[in-house]
Amino acid sequence: MTRFLLVTDLDDTLVGDADALRQLDRFLAASKARHGSRVVYSTGRSLTLYHELAAERGLPPPDALVTAVGTEIYFEIDAAVADPAWSGQLADGWDRQQVAAAAGGFGDLQAQPASEQRPYKISYFVAAQAAAEILPGLHTALAARGQRTQLVYSGERHLDILPAGAGKGLAMQYLRRLWGFAAAQTVACGDSGNDIALFGVGQERGIIVGNARPELLRWVRCNAAGRLYLARAHHAKGIIEGLRHFGFLGGDEGA
Ligand SMILES: [Mg+2]
Repeated sequence: MTRFLLVTDLDDTLVGDADALRQLDRFLAASKARHGSRVVYSTGRSLTLYHELAAERGLPPPDALVTAVGTEIYFEIDAAVADPAWSGQLADGWDRQQVAAAAGGFGDLQAQPASEQRPYKISYFVAAQAAAEILPGLHTALAARGQRTQLVYSGERHLDILPAGAGKGLAMQYLRRLWGFAAAQTVACGDSGNDIALFGVGQERGIIVGNARPELLRWVRCNAAGRLYLARAHHAKGIIEGLRHFGFLGGDEGA
């Protein structure tokens, strides 16, 4: 078995099956000790809501935490301030007030709670059908205000507007380059629309858990590749299945 970098979404990917999560944690702890593997959690949650989940589920601290859909990176989860080198890259072409003003013209967008509104992320609730109708016009309205943004729709409910240079995929590449992992040594895991950025950004390996949502499955059908693995098992059990598929976990390990 070899050294690898695991980058995993939390809700409905790593978290969802407590027994399988403990089994995966044991394997990851062994791989970190023996091979120097590293683990990154990449979530749509803010740091505040990450701490709630981590306490509730007893998550071991990761080597780095990517929050707010890839707009903030923390190397110490008790840190008050996100990695300034990453945040500094996101400011170019992003004016929060202009983004909010453009979105304000769309009545179907309902603002998410204040804790989820971040310096480089503005978030709304919007139903799937309304989203399909709104997103092209919203994109045009943002561009008209000179905003270089990306729209991330996930879980048939959550809409995030991010700077063009942000996102889970680019944050993953920033960390793997920082730590010297090749794309072939990097495995991303996810279940929903905001994880598409992990699977589509480059040549990293991908595990789509068996309980993945329709928007991700639709994307995988159109972008099938040998470096992507659609697991049969759900949640952490699906991650273990995928790690075995890619040879990062031996047949008897994690059993
Ligand atoms: Mg998820």
